[in-house]
Amino acid sequence: MFDQLNSRPADSLLALIKAFQADDRAGKIDLGVGVYRDAMGRTPVMRAVKAAEQFLLETQDSKKYLGPEGDLQFVRLLEPIIFGKAPDFGHRLVGIQTPGGSGALRLGAELIQTAHPSATILLGTPSWPNHAPIFGSARLPVKEYAFVDLVSQQVKFESVVAALSSAREGDVVLLHGCCHNPTGIDFTMEQWAEITKLLVAHRLVPFIDLAYQGLGDGLEQDAAPARMILEAVDEALIAYSCDKNFGLYRERVGALYVMARNGDDLRKAESNMAAHARVNWSMPPDHGAAIVRTILESDEMSAMWRAELEEMCQRVNGNRAALAAAAPDLAFIARQRGLFSNLSMSRDTAVALRASHGIYLADSGRMNLAGMQPTDADAIVAALRAEGCL
Ligand code: PMP
Repeated sequence: MFDQLNSRPADSLLALIKAFQADDRAGKIDLGVGVYRDAMGRTPVMRAVKAAEQFLLETQDSKKYLGPEGDLQFVRLLEPIIFGKAPDFGHRLVGIQTPGGSGALRLGAELIQTAHPSATILLGTPSWPNHAPIFGSARLPVKEYAFVDLVSQQVKFESVVAALSSAREGDVVLLHGCCHNPTGIDFTMEQWAEITKLLVAHRLVPFIDLAYQGLGDGLEQDAAPARMILEAVDEALIAYSCDKNFGLYRERVGALYVMARNGDDLRKAESNMAAHARVNWSMPPDHGAAIVRTILESDEMSAMWRAELEEMCQRVNGNRAALAAAAPDLAFIARQRGLFSNLSMSRDTAVALRASHGIYLADSGRMNLAGMQPTDADAIVAALRAEGCL
């Protein structure tokens, strides 16, 4: 039967990692794969994570099954961080642990498909390349609209307004809560307020993807748009990832939260979330969520985590400032947030940056600002100039 399959293209970012490793030039710079890197270029295990793992090693006395909802204490302890302390809508929320933010998106997509199979997902482009395939594989139609103009590095707000205004009641709007991937371009609070009004007026359901909380302007600020929306709408989904802000990537730590109109709907959503989880992965992997729970249960480990996250956030924003200072045409990079910026360039230019300058970024022009040191700014700018990007 496998002769019936068509081969699929390999992930180009993985090829980029290999090419970078094989490059023996001293000044090479890796702005490719989307993970945080410290000043030594490493993606370290966070100190709070090490402390929690030590604690778990000593105290965990069973690995028996937990159930499709996973670690519910983990799910509950994240709530004040994401939604604020005692929000008005708190009693209309339910959450379930998922394998990463990807698992949360997939579970949310299946829940939507079960609840409202004719719903369309509105997706601003460019977006994380896995968004459209995840919704597509859950048999949901995806309608894309242009979210940003990469040449001017500006939000195309009229295109956002047009897309939301022409959507049908019950359609779902995928929104990056903060630190947009791949562009780093987030809406202003005024634009978020406008979007909130449109969601309410057209009875649309926001699906907020929050994968980088704390890596933009800080935990509270990064959650502000999501909280504003949740205060205003009846129903929503939130896909949360701890893989970046706890540095847990391969442990696959995330949660899906659903906000429903009332208790009856909430219980129905909850039972359907558990049923979908059961057929997808039966139960989510425990270790990463147990680490996050352990950190959040301890004041000392929480303080350690918050301080380290703050350091990470400042390092990325420092790199942004260094690039902007090295070239006036890159001033926009200092205003953007999160790990990424997406320059407007052809694939050939991205290839030339690698071949002639040892600067590795995705073929799309996406670069990970955590991959550089502030002292790399001049070399990056010189290479961009030489290739006609500036
Ligand atoms: N959403 C966005 C916007 C992302 O960038 C990512 C990860 N790259 C995810 C979701 C998925 O996160 P996870 O690794 O936790 O599955």
